[in-house]
Amino acid sequence: MDLFGHLRAYDYGEVHFKHDKASGLKAIVAIHDSRLGPALGGCRFLPYDTDEDAVVDALRLARGMTYKAALAGLPHGGGKSVLIRPKQHFDRVAMFRAFGKFVDDLGGHYITAEDSGTGLEDMEVIRTVTKHVTGVGPSHGGSGDPSPFTALGVRRGIEACVKFTLKRDSLDGVHVAVQGVGHVGYHLCKELHAQGAKISVADVDPLKAERAQREFGAVVVPLDQIFEIECDVIAPCALGSALNDTTIPKLKARIVAGAANNQLAQPRHGDDLHARGILYAPDYAINAGGLVNVAQEVQGYDAAKSRENTLRIFDTIFEIADRSAKTGTPAYRIADMLVEEKLVRFAKNGPAKS
Ligand code: NAD
Repeated sequence: MDLFGHLRAYDYGEVHFKHDKASGLKAIVAIHDSRLGPALGGCRFLPYDTDEDAVVDALRLARGMTYKAALAGLPHGGGKSVLIRPKQHFDRVAMFRAFGKFVDDLGGHYITAEDSGTGLEDMEVIRTVTKHVTGVGPSHGGSGDPSPFTALGVRRGIEACVKFTLKRDSLDGVHVAVQGVGHVGYHLCKELHAQGAKISVADVDPLKAERAQREFGAVVVPLDQIFEIECDVIAPCALGSALNDTTIPKLKARIVAGAANNQLAQPRHGDDLHARGILYAPDYAINAGGLVNVAQEVQGYDAAKSRENTLRIFDTIFEIADRSAKTGTPAYRIADMLVEEKLVRFAKNGPAKS
């Protein structure tokens, strides 16, 4: 593996490795950038075909966290950890305890949290050996499920897009089509319903779609039609790569704004949306509410402050839309540019006063 080649390609940074023989732990902590503060990002626990795949996943994800934290105005850099899930039997508690010790040895330079394959119970085990962990239970000063905050931020982002594009100050009567009504999508429907929006939903799990119908009066749409219905906003809240060569030409909405990570199958799809005159709220800008909430735990958890900071996603998305329109540059590139400007400013002047 050309390790330093990968570090160069992802613009690193530092990477830490740990092999704990007793528990079988094989862990990678990638710290992409810590100029704005200690790196914060989740801990993945998945099987990987090769060690190289695991390293590249950690590098890619940690870089994404730098961008998300910087744009959300958080005093954190981007980090991510990957634990390679063993194929044979293992002791989960021993493994996460060993991982917690590894995180502790990094002295607060990296703060961990839940991610794919890990949950609250793992964070509770990590908490027994280090304080550099978030996403623990409310009884231990944690913030619990981040989805309601992610959904709140997405609702604010949708409001910003609607104000910018449709010149409307409220979501009353605005039609939003939500793909995926799981954790975030459900809470998003709740937010939208409270604002008087008209909602359509699609989910591979019919029970979830029916719940949105029952509780929020949503219209259930066939899976393959959700992106082509007549509506104002498409909110992808399921998997990544929802915006691709197949879906983009079918869109009738003027706005795409949802929670899913990595919505653009490739960056060029952000150019395609722009060329079609569709405003795209960049995923990592609009879905940062959960991270904002988790970051609040580092200061001492305060739900009111998390909410206040999450509401600011409106301003970020509005600024992106405005700069995109004024410069003729696709919104996804404006988001990257805002982050890069911020990091350069920080390197020159140190932290901003406000
Ligand atoms: P989830 O698994 O709870 O919900 C996803 C839902 O999408 C499920 O109900 C699933 O049945 C449905 N789904 C899957 N494929 C589908 C398809 N082809 N068509 C329609 N529905 C489909 O996950 P979540 O926590 O709600 O996260 C949703 C997205 O938001 C993910 O991309 C996630 O990475 C991203 N995200 C989540 C958070 C958070 O706080 N949970 C924060 C930031 C980003």
